[in-house]
Amino acid sequence: MSSSADILRVAIIGGGPAGLGAAIALSALPNIKIDLYEKARELREVGAGINIGYNCWKVLELLGAAEEVRGHLQQNVIHRNGISSEIRRVRPAPSLPLKYRTIRARRTRLQSALISKVPQGIIQLNKKLVSIEDAAAQGVRLTFEDGTETVADLLIGGDGIRSVVRLSIFPDHVTSFTGTTIWRTLVPAKSLSDIPDLVPETSWWHGPAGHCYFSLVDDPSEFSDSSAPKSEQMLEVSCRYIIDPALDTERRFSWGIPATNERVTAHFTQYDPRPRNALSRVPEGNWKEFSAFSGPRLEKLTGLGKVVLLGDASHPLSGAFGSGAAFALEDGWILARAIEYTTTRPQPTIPGDAQITKMQNIADALEIFNEVRSPYYHRMHNHLDNEKAKVLQTQTKAKAQSSDPMYVFESALETRLGSFSIGDEMNWIYRNDIELVWQNYVQRVLERPAVSTL
Ligand SMILES: Cc1cc2nc3c(=O)[nH]c(=O)nc-3n(C[C@H](O)[C@H](O)[C@H](O)COP(=O)(O)OP(=O)(O)OC[C@H]3O[C@@H](n4cnc5c(N)ncnc54)[C@H](O)[C@@H]3O)c2cc1C
Repeated sequence: MSSSADILRVAIIGGGPAGLGAAIALSALPNIKIDLYEKARELREVGAGINIGYNCWKVLELLGAAEEVRGHLQQNVIHRNGISSEIRRVRPAPSLPLKYRTIRARRTRLQSALISKVPQGIIQLNKKLVSIEDAAAQGVRLTFEDGTETVADLLIGGDGIRSVVRLSIFPDHVTSFTGTTIWRTLVPAKSLSDIPDLVPETSWWHGPAGHCYFSLVDDPSEFSDSSAPKSEQMLEVSCRYIIDPALDTERRFSWGIPATNERVTAHFTQYDPRPRNALSRVPEGNWKEFSAFSGPRLEKLTGLGKVVLLGDASHPLSGAFGSGAAFALEDGWILARAIEYTTTRPQPTIPGDAQITKMQNIADALEIFNEVRSPYYHRMHNHLDNEKAKVLQTQTKAKAQSSDPMYVFESALETRLGSFSIGDEMNWIYRNDIELVWQNYVQRVLERPAVSTL
């Protein structure tokens, strides 16, 4: 019979992709008790659509959740100058087996596929973490807003961009508004189908300070059976507007507050009539506003030897790369592999103290997790810094050449479009296979023969 010291008590904070993915991956391990605490009263996703590409499919397969995620299969993705409407780039569908091709899906589809794979009884809603305390060899003490407390051996912070867990272990890490505001909504596709060039292909309309994006989000085959009518096929409309954050005077909320049509359309008056027409037809009350927050890169994704950050809590990238859900799911899967490795290796015999052995296994697993994931996130941050520098450099050069704002915009657009992956240069993100990453790490590091010092 297992004693309490043999059972690994895991507390996960957050019911987004990071928390749900970790709950699924960890619940497959033996001798583990998982509680997932989510502050919301119900698990409800507010963010319109999401891209699911090869890297995400790979990890969804490992989690057993790929089958239920359905959406619009992206063919060509068209990038236009949003003012003149000129087509500037066409990204063809990658040559991949159908099941690994990129789809745009309703975010709720991903969320419900993940929830369906989390074992019953793990998720506790209406539980907002407010603080944590190091309980030494006993683990970590968690206090919730409702006054209740619990102790866990391992605390997983999957609590998103404004993570309480991150702030607890890295109190100096501050996130701030990046200057980017995003407005998103889903509308019935047929309500905009008469506007030329928005659909069926995914289209980006780039402007001097942002863009408008249009993509279908549903798999049409799910709507063909008239005996089981579902809701209408939907189209995602997502618009970004970027300002210098130093000049921002508004109070910002990070995630999903309502915005009026007037507020949204006022930022896109220069655009071609097609996107403008589309924006004006969004029913009042539909828009949700997201202010992007980010913070400096973390040198480590773990703390106290028993706290780990996953997903947006660990890398506040504000949706850069359009792959944050995949990163979050990859994190949880790697964490499960690291714990599996340290708990199944030959255990050191520390007489009489199974709790110490358990805590050592956790600390070692977190080191492994950090070694696999930290360099990956550092590479992402470096890439974004380089891309930003390139756009700034182009803008500065163009401003020196001409005082025409359209010339400056055109020049910067060319550089910006270069950052959209067309060839293989971004395969380290979009073709990442997390299982291979783990296998390589095992061979390269964990199974490396010890070097003789003789
Ligand atoms: C505009 C935009 C577009 C994006 N597009 C894409 C895309 O196309 N593809 C893609 O893969 N990714 C995309 N992303 C990124 C993706 O949304 C995130 O990376 C992903 O949701 C991160 O998951 P997460 O679980 O780490 O955090 P979240 O999804 O933010 O989940 C965190 C959860 O923790 C809960 N929580 C927070 N604090 C507490 C607390 N104190 N106690 C208890 N619970 C708490 C929250 O309620 C929430 O449920 C986009 C992001 C943005 C902003």
